[in-house]
Amino acid sequence: MNKTFHDVIVVGAGIVGAACADELARRGMSVAVVDRDLIGGGATAAGMGHIVVMDDSEAQFALTRYSRELWQKLRPELPDDVEYQQSGTIWVAADDEEMAEVRRKRAYYADRGVAVEELGAQELKSLEPNLRDDLVGGLRVPGDGVLYPPCAARFLMERAQARRTSLFLGRNVEHIGHGQVRLSDGSELSAQFIVNATGASAPDLTPGIEIKKRKGHLVITDRYPGFLRHQLVELGYLKSAHSVSADSIAFNVQPRRTGQILIGSSRQYGAEHKEVDTAILVRMLQRAEHYMPGLGQMSAIRAWTGFRAATPDKLPLIGPSLVDGSLFLATGHEGLGITTSLGTARILADQITGSKSEIPTEPYLPSRLAKEHAHA
Ligand SMILES: Cc1cc2nc3c(=O)[nH]c(=O)nc-3n(C[C@H](O)[C@H](O)[C@H](O)COP(=O)(O)OP(=O)(O)OC[C@H]3O[C@@H](n4cnc5c(N)ncnc54)[C@H](O)[C@@H]3O)c2cc1C
Repeated sequence: MNKTFHDVIVVGAGIVGAACADELARRGMSVAVVDRDLIGGGATAAGMGHIVVMDDSEAQFALTRYSRELWQKLRPELPDDVEYQQSGTIWVAADDEEMAEVRRKRAYYADRGVAVEELGAQELKSLEPNLRDDLVGGLRVPGDGVLYPPCAARFLMERAQARRTSLFLGRNVEHIGHGQVRLSDGSELSAQFIVNATGASAPDLTPGIEIKKRKGHLVITDRYPGFLRHQLVELGYLKSAHSVSADSIAFNVQPRRTGQILIGSSRQYGAEHKEVDTAILVRMLQRAEHYMPGLGQMSAIRAWTGFRAATPDKLPLIGPSLVDGSLFLATGHEGLGITTSLGTARILADQITGSKSEIPTEPYLPSRLAKEHAHA
């Protein structure tokens, strides 16, 4: 590695770092990307790849809708191995309370121009015949999609490299700040701007930022083509995703193009070891079987874990750090970083180049959390 000066150094070659490099290079900047591992080897390899519009908050909705549009525009350019499919999401309602949530969600999405379709019990059953019989309905979001995240990250990185991006893999970064990146092998790189895109490891390089690791488990089955058509998520998922302390599991299944079924998902704080936790796995599979009894007959071929980078308000940190004018953050994407990588990259590049963004960006600025503390 020589001591060339770059406009921007992106630390982290996950999907967020790759998308940022691609967007910055597209705008004519010279970029270096450094990762201690492979392209997309962190949470990106562990994630489900559901491209989904979510409505926990207006800011989350805005970023996920914007990002989903960017994925849809990119679709014609995506190589086959990215396996992009617009399979749609169905939010599944198990009782009347959840059906009320279907109606609230339907109105919310429709008011903001996102196509949705309310399903009664019969319509749900005809779209997904392998769901159990007593479910009361659901909400279909036909524009949502599914992709294979490590290949998407590789595609974005290769596109960046085709412009002015140098990639350094297998290189651990020890320190960043004031335009300098110091590697464990003692070498240094310098740039006008540095982007910390190291996901759940971001506080190691930028101490004090509020990111907690939130562990997740997934299981993939053998091939069962046609068994499942949409990404199915129980509406109880929202309760589980909102929990800030307890371990939680929810029914969340995805059809892969191979005919395999990806089964999730769990959320745990305070579990920092990578090992699969059998008790969590059993609860997760029982929950899946409770919704789709046929899953119980299938062979699971692999289970794994990954770490989401969670912030206190469940929004990412995109923008300048509070302590160093050269340092930008692009982290804290929790369970939505595959979806929001493209929107994040646009916003970050707008900030670095001084351009106006297409959506309001204040809700994602790292300074918002400092303000919350000041007012606490
Ligand atoms: C179980 C699970 C399911 C998920 N499902 C979905 C989903 O369906 N849809 C969705 O949108 N999102 C999903 N997510 C979230 C998504 O996977 C993440 O938000 C996203 O991958 C984050 O990407 P990233 O690039 O920020 O981080 P990462 O992919 O973790 O990349 C960070 C990179 O930084 C590198 N790095 C870290 N420290 C250093 C260092 N000191 N020096 C050099 N390199 C370093 C790492 O090697 C890594 O490659 C899921 C996550 C999990 C765990």
